[in-house]
Amino acid sequence: MPFDRYNRDINYLRISLTDACNLRCVYCMPENMTFRPRDELLSDDELRRLIGLFAAVGFRKIRFTGGEPTLRSALVDLVGHAARTPGIETIGLTTNGVLLADLAGPLRAAGLRSVNISLDTLDPEKFRRITRWGRLDRVLAGLDAAAQAGLRVKLNAVVSRGTNDRDDVVALARYTLKEPWQVRFIEQMPFGNNAKFQTQSMVSEDELLTVLKEAYGPLELVNHGRLDGEARLYRIAGAAGCIGFISPVSKPFCADCNRLRLTAEGILRLCLLRDNEVDLRPLLRSGADDETITACIRAAVSDKPWGHGLEEHVIPTRGMSEIGG
Ligand code: SAM
Repeated sequence: MPFDRYNRDINYLRISLTDACNLRCVYCMPENMTFRPRDELLSDDELRRLIGLFAAVGFRKIRFTGGEPTLRSALVDLVGHAARTPGIETIGLTTNGVLLADLAGPLRAAGLRSVNISLDTLDPEKFRRITRWGRLDRVLAGLDAAAQAGLRVKLNAVVSRGTNDRDDVVALARYTLKEPWQVRFIEQMPFGNNAKFQTQSMVSEDELLTVLKEAYGPLELVNHGRLDGEARLYRIAGAAGCIGFISPVSKPFCADCNRLRLTAEGILRLCLLRDNEVDLRPLLRSGADDETITACIRAAVSDKPWGHGLEEHVIPTRGMSEIGG
C-alpha cells in the first residue's frame, strides 16, 4: 500500500494523455495556446510500463484526462491495458465529450465503467462562448452515447461568476431529477497567469447551495456529508441522481487527497495546486530499470505535500490543462 508520510493511502493516479485540447474554455487556456510536440509526450509504451509499475506499487485507480484525452489515438487501447493490469480496480475518464459519441461503446468494451463529462451550461450559444467554438449538440450526443453504452455518468461544471452561476446551474441540476447521474459543481481554482480572473470569478459552494435551494427546495445531504471522491453530495427530494460540490477553494479536502498526477510529458505532480514535481521521463528514456522507477514513485508518494497553499497565495505555475485536470 502506498501511504504518504501523513498516512494517506495514495492509490489514485490521474494520467494526462495530451496537453492538447479541441476546445479553449476561457477560464482554462488562451485561444492561441501552444501545445507540446508529440515526441515530448510519453509514448504509448512508456505509459503502459508506468501503469504496470504504479499498479505494482499499490495504485488501484487510474483516470485518463488531459488536455483532451479523446484526442489520443491509443485511448481505447490504453484503457484496455489498464483494465487488464493486475491491481487496477477502477478506471475513469474525464472528457469534454465532443468526441465521445463514437468512442463511448469501444471504451465500455475496453473496460471503462464511468465517465466524467465537463459541461458548464446547457445553453448552446453560451457553450460556444465559454469554449470559444464548441458545439453543445456534439457533447449532448456524447453524453447520450455514454449513457446508452452503460457508462456511469458524472457531469462536471466549473462555475464562473457572471457567466453560468444561476440559470445554468439550475438547468444542469435538473438532470438529476430523472437521471441517476451526479451533476457536480466545481469551484474555479487559480492557475498561472490566469489566477486573478479565476479567483475573482470563483463562485463558492455555499452560494450555489442557496441558488439550488431557491429553485428546488431543501436539499438532502447524502452520506452524512462524507465525501464521494472529492465531492460532497446532496439530493433534491425524490431525485434519481445527486448534486455534488467539489470545493477545493472554500472547503479544502486535502486531508482526504489520495492522488498523484502524471502530466503528458511524464512529470509526476504531487499536488494539483503546488509545484512539487518529479520528472519520470528522463528515467524512462535513459534505460532505468523497474526497481529504480518504482523507488522513485515510492519516494514521490512519501514526499506528497500535506495540502494546497491557496490561503497563503501559493499559486501553481502550470495551467490545469498542462497538469491534467
Ligand atoms: N478536456 C477534458 C475535460 O474537459 O474534461 C479534461 C481536461 S480539463 C482541464 C478537466 C476539468 O478541469 C474540466 O472539467 C475543466 O472544466 C476543469 N477546469 C479547467 N480549469 C479549471 C479551473 N481553473 N478551476 C477548476 N476547474 C477547472
